[in-house]
Amino acid sequence: MADNWSATDNYLTDVLIGDDPALSSALEANAAAELPPIDVSAPQGKFLHLLARIRGARRVLEIGTLGGYSTIWLARAVGESGRVVTLEYERKHAEVARANLDRAGVGDRVDIRVGPALDSLPGLVDEDPFDLVFIDADKENNSNYVRAALGLSRPGTVIVVDNVVRAGAIVDQGSDDERVRASRDVLELLAREPRLDATALQTVGSKGWDGFALAVVTG
Ligand code: SAM
Repeated sequence: MADNWSATDNYLTDVLIGDDPALSSALEANAAAELPPIDVSAPQGKFLHLLARIRGARRVLEIGTLGGYSTIWLARAVGESGRVVTLEYERKHAEVARANLDRAGVGDRVDIRVGPALDSLPGLVDEDPFDLVFIDADKENNSNYVRAALGLSRPGTVIVVDNVVRAGAIVDQGSDDERVRASRDVLELLAREPRLDATALQTVGSKGWDGFALAVVTG
């Protein structure tokens, strides 16, 4: 089954995205630097890109940079005068991302902040609110990241949380997997938080079976 998911992702990438040297180079540089291959897939990256464009996003916050693959997609969406702030714990990942973003020609619109995201987030409260927030770091902190994102948002801000389905493990309410529990917690937070309206979509593809939660700030 998973082979077919990857083949289908490859087909969708060929048809709808095509050859993209900046993105291919970023993945090659990530592999050369031995970063884990846990970036979003090409169709997922383009989904985020289109979401940001549909929202008309000029300011995007990303939590979890890795080598900047998703960051390139988001930076392309905000345009030359837009801004992406991306938070990354590992200095080595941030260095690889910086080179990848510069090579992709979007480095000047991306601000990479190194350190635990929970330490970096309070420093953003005095900036203009973000139009879209993409959460893709340590899953155990997803609820903390959504709460922080709310403080950096305005009505209409879109919040996306990656990897909330975890191959369906989220239906196990007694799971002892901390990331599964964190997924259930963040979904329940999205449901009960009155300033958010949310859904979640399962995804299959080269990254296996998982899913995105999607929320809009309503007030
Ligand atoms: N968004 C990236 C992409 O699609 O190209 C993938 C991000 S990867 C799934 C998660 C990243 O979050 C890793 O680079 C990891 O080092 C980083 N991370 C983990 N814990 C973190 C934390 N507490 N604060 C900031 N970044 C963290």
